Amino acid sequence: MLGIEQAREVVLDSVVKIDSEVVDITSSLNRILACDIYSDIDLPTFNNSAMDGYAVISSGLKGASFDQPIWLEVIGEIPAGYTYSGKLMNGKALKIMTGAPIPEGADTVVPIEYTEAEGALVKVFRGVKEKENIRYKGEDVARGKLVIPEGKKISPVDIGMLAAQNLRTISVAKLPSVSILATGDEVVDIGEELSPGKIRDINSYSLYANVIKYGGIPISLGIAKDNKAAIFRSIENGLNSDILLISGGVSVGDYDFVKEVLIEKGVSIKFWKVAIKPGKPVLFGVKGNTLVFGLPGNPISTLVTFREFVLPAMCKMQGRVGNPVREQYAVLERDISIAPGRRHYIMGRICYRGGSYFAKPVGIQSSGALNSMLQSNCLIVVPEDTPQIKSGEQVLVQLLDE
Ligand code: AMP
Ligand code: MG
Repeated sequence: MLGIEQAREVVLDSVVKIDSEVVDITSSLNRILACDIYSDIDLPTFNNSAMDGYAVISSGLKGASFDQPIWLEVIGEIPAGYTYSGKLMNGKALKIMTGAPIPEGADTVVPIEYTEAEGALVKVFRGVKEKENIRYKGEDVARGKLVIPEGKKISPVDIGMLAAQNLRTISVAKLPSVSILATGDEVVDIGEELSPGKIRDINSYSLYANVIKYGGIPISLGIAKDNKAAIFRSIENGLNSDILLISGGVSVGDYDFVKEVLIEKGVSIKFWKVAIKPGKPVLFGVKGNTLVFGLPGNPISTLVTFREFVLPAMCKMQGRVGNPVREQYAVLERDISIAPGRRHYIMGRICYRGGSYFAKPVGIQSSGALNSMLQSNCLIVVPEDTPQIKSGEQVLVQLLDE
């Protein structure tokens, strides 16, 4: 059976990068930057005071103490936003506010806390070293430096930097459109009667949320019954999206028609079945630039296969660099046995105690047990060739909370 990495490679090889668009920086949070941002300014742009205090000449304050303060004449003040045109001389001080430009002649700022004003004079109780409390031009960012690389998911700090760069708008990857279809005669939507044998549609909603979470535009195609005509009709529009997700109907049951219908629709099937648990019957195909995923219907299988295969595709489409799934090694706190051959994702909880991470399985490990997933904050990854991991051994976990 195809391994997870090989399957993911097949998916990534099929990804076509989508175009970029220009958005206002106020709408750019969590979008993927489509160009490198180089600084065309020095930051700070001028030498300025890091404190409220007095701009002074450091050599003139040597030996200042409580018992032997040094007196300076205050010749003016510099509020933030204004410059001082004169030059500071020995024996003088300029009152200065945080962020105001350092006047010519001054080489340090003595904080207001070390001083006491008396009329036109100020008493300084403590000396300060040269260059102290001054933020120098270009010390944070030198002009020409790469400040935000292409492919980065834009954070609030990045937006601050974009503003510092005087950018009102920015080029980001377009959000991929992701159509979502649930299948199953038993599956009914919220608000519909739950007659005997029926279950609620969970996957449409959890997938919808995942698409938003990872930067896509979800389009719900509703629920198709388990017959070829219904599935055929329902996926018509979905094949115009960047990605089509179909949950259920990809296994080996008598009513699992998704694969057949996709083939009839001209979708080229790239793989079906991967060595993963939960989620073995996951299917992937391509039509034109549209990626089609058949995700097994059990809600945990759907979520795990989304993370392993759909998410990397969404990221690559937008040119996102880095892995959005955070991994961590932890000490296992309970023995785990698996039937080897497939990589297992065990729903679990990880915690940090006394300098180490510990992880253990949570709840029942059924691929339908949504509450176990809800109680989990990680997936414990058990390699396909490891039938047993003992308590106390190291395991790799994927963190679920971000
Ligand atoms: P399937 O992949 O169609 O064989 O479905 C596997 C299991 O997942 C069955 O127990 C289905 O009832 C359940 N299932 C399928 N689709 C959904 C859905 N949209 N929401 C919740 N459970 C589902
Ligand atoms: Mg089904």
